[in-house]
Amino acid sequence: MQELKTETDLARFLRNAAERLHNEDPELYAILDNEYRRQSNVLTMVASSSIADPSALACEAMPTMNVTAEGYPGARFHAGCRHIDEIETLAIERAKKAFGARFANVQVMSATSANEVVMFSTLEPGQKLLGMELDSGGHLTHGSKASISGQVFDAVGYGLDENERIDMNAVRELAHEHKPGLIVCGTTAYSREIDWKPFRDIADEVGAYLLADITHIAGLVAAGIHPSPIDHAHFTTTCTHKQLYGGRGGLIMIGKDWDRPTPDGKLTLSKMIQKKVFPFFQGAPNQSAVAAKARGLAYVASPEFKAVAQKIVDLSRALAKAFMDKGYRVITGGTDNHIVVVDVFSKGITGVNAEKALEDCGIVVNKNRIPGDQKPPSTTSGIRLGTNGLAIRDMRPEDMTECVDLIHRVLTTLVQKGDKEYALEPDVQRSVQSAVEAICRRRPISTYPAPQD
Ligand SMILES: *Cc1c(COP(=O)(O)O)cnc(C)c1O
Repeated sequence: MQELKTETDLARFLRNAAERLHNEDPELYAILDNEYRRQSNVLTMVASSSIADPSALACEAMPTMNVTAEGYPGARFHAGCRHIDEIETLAIERAKKAFGARFANVQVMSATSANEVVMFSTLEPGQKLLGMELDSGGHLTHGSKASISGQVFDAVGYGLDENERIDMNAVRELAHEHKPGLIVCGTTAYSREIDWKPFRDIADEVGAYLLADITHIAGLVAAGIHPSPIDHAHFTTTCTHKQLYGGRGGLIMIGKDWDRPTPDGKLTLSKMIQKKVFPFFQGAPNQSAVAAKARGLAYVASPEFKAVAQKIVDLSRALAKAFMDKGYRVITGGTDNHIVVVDVFSKGITGVNAEKALEDCGIVVNKNRIPGDQKPPSTTSGIRLGTNGLAIRDMRPEDMTECVDLIHRVLTTLVQKGDKEYALEPDVQRSVQSAVEAICRRRPISTYPAPQD
């Protein structure tokens, strides 16, 4: 039983590590403990977050972190990488399996880095990039001036049509007018299904590469609930911590174009990405994070995750309906994924005041700009909610009515004193908070042991 003994040694290592932290750094331990309790007692509805599986979090704490392993499996620049190679190979195989990809790079540190790698692989500085505008639901890394993507490259943006859907006519017109080297699709605050094929058709018409950034919907894609871009886009990027319930990190994948030659004929698209991740952008990868990715990728490929992914969407639809039943304007009038964007300014409240007042009560959402928003990003007219963190609590669609009742109570009782100032009755705050805590007790995080007082 050699294997069991190894497992026991490792389990003892983890226990010892937690004990040492507790005994030798009580100050830090107390903060970490408070954060664990906070997560257990609040409704985490930030659409760009989730609650990682504890087995993925455990990988992050492993001694794999100690190994410096520049290079790739079988071709390292350091010795001592036998097991590191096994872990990375496993993560690559699991990524390919989960998404039906032919190539995966699991070393990239975040989705931001993943997008940068693809951009610097496919574009020269100053060359045109076509991505979705931030205000319409695109991401900072898709050409915003606040990001390197909008400073190094000449970014052009598309937005939404009159139905608040991605304006494919604008994508086609802008692509033909500007002839970008890269088109980016994928969003951060868009609640509707994305049709990948027309993006590829347009990219082919103008000779551009297509990057699909599925960071927000990667879990739904892995579960087959949202169509996959893997064989439509030349490159597909995601992070592993939003909807893949794994460790914090990034992933770059390629489907059928994996062995397509680069324009100079010297490399394939896969080899080009490998070289850009290391050594162009990064040195030695974080192999504990790679192990955590492997764990999360196995989880999202499992039959049990299909039910979680379906619940993400069922809860989100119920959430959108509950808001609309209360008279709120939900952007696009509903949702196909985990995201619900609500206009709170039509109720006289700024997004930032709504966010802060809800947080006071244990409901964690984020301020978000809405189409045509007149308020700056630090204020906004909307809030964005997501159901990744609720699905892992075994919430039922019926529970969404209660959640929206609580949100409505906060928003209707808060007194707005300025765009960024408000007052909330302490009685309301206390009673909503205790109602939230009661929900959290009734629907505990299914994978976490309940905290004991
Ligand atoms: C969150 C997000 C990113 C950035 O992810 P990080 O891993 O935090 O860098 C990139 N693209 C989209 C669409 C996102 O939503």
